Amino acid sequence: RAKDDGRDTIRFFLPSMQAAADARLAIEKELRYAIEKNELSLYFQPQVDQLGNIVGAETLLRWHHPEKGFISPATFIPVAEATGLILPIGSWVLRKACEYLKVWEDAGLPIQHLAVNVSPRQFRQPDFVDQVHSILKDTGADPALLGLELTEGMVIDNVVDTIEKMQALKQLSIELSIDDFGTGYSSLAYLKQMPLDILKIDQSFVRDISTDASDAAIVDTIISMANHLELRVIAEGVETELELAFLAGKGCKMYQGYHFSRPVPDKEFTKQLNAGTVFH
Ligand code: C2E
Ligand code: MG
Ligand code: MG
Ligand code: MG
Repeated sequence: RAKDDGRDTIRFFLPSMQAAADARLAIEKELRYAIEKNELSLYFQPQVDQLGNIVGAETLLRWHHPEKGFISPATFIPVAEATGLILPIGSWVLRKACEYLKVWEDAGLPIQHLAVNVSPRQFRQPDFVDQVHSILKDTGADPALLGLELTEGMVIDNVVDTIEKMQALKQLSIELSIDDFGTGYSSLAYLKQMPLDILKIDQSFVRDISTDASDAAIVDTIISMANHLELRVIAEGVETELELAFLAGKGCKMYQGYHFSRPVPDKEFTKQLNAGTVFH
């Protein structure tokens, strides 16, 4: 690739770069068949109130490779995004999540919302809203219980198109959140125009909340801004009682993190839903 650039540029191609490129290629090749080979599954991480009562969950994709074992989404989602494989994978995730949602609804379990991560490439498809609509119709899941997690990056990419799609999704009663909030560059002016329900505070701020005064200030600011804009806030990556106490003191009411529960397979999440709480 470097040589057919045609311009007088000199590029270095280091052996380590070759290794990284090979690894990507291997992931791409195998990921292509992961769905049909039944290697993908969904985990669920409870979202809770301060007492540990379950108010919802986030759907997190898992890839169990037959030889390599568990491969993290942090490794394969970017490859899927770069190659376009995120499109079939993303729609598989959405359909599967709606199927679970329908089962839990029918069982009368107290699930108030189930969030699904949406990648930029997936969201940018012209017929994204139609796809979501068909999946909801096919599965019979209640749209009011489905949430979509968007990121700041995709939101400022093309503001007009984004807001139009968000409004169409709101028309379907779907709940919208901004994931990893605070790590991107979303302007407050855009934020105000968007039909949003939830801001998810990125775990990088929560992690240092008790030792880093500026992270504490950022978290404080996000929570009070959300309150003014009448948005709900979910703090991500809550690992300790101390972090929980700080967040609660600032008026945050919903949490997600290892302090309460790791992401768990469907059977275990069903048990948690039956109990209604992650504490026993
Ligand atoms: P995310 O959407 O921000 O998801 C939260 C990540 O934080 C998850 O990592 C979760 O396991 C992890 N986490 C939750 N609580 C804690 C905690 O207390 N401490 C720490 N250290 N981590 C915690 P995971 O499952 O590895 O997913 C990583 C990222 O991969 C996700 O970040 C999301 O961006 C992406 N991803 C996962 N599933 C999907 C999917 O179905 N579609 C798309 N497009 N992206 C996905
Ligand atoms: Mg997320
Ligand atoms: Mg996040
Ligand atoms: Mg994240």
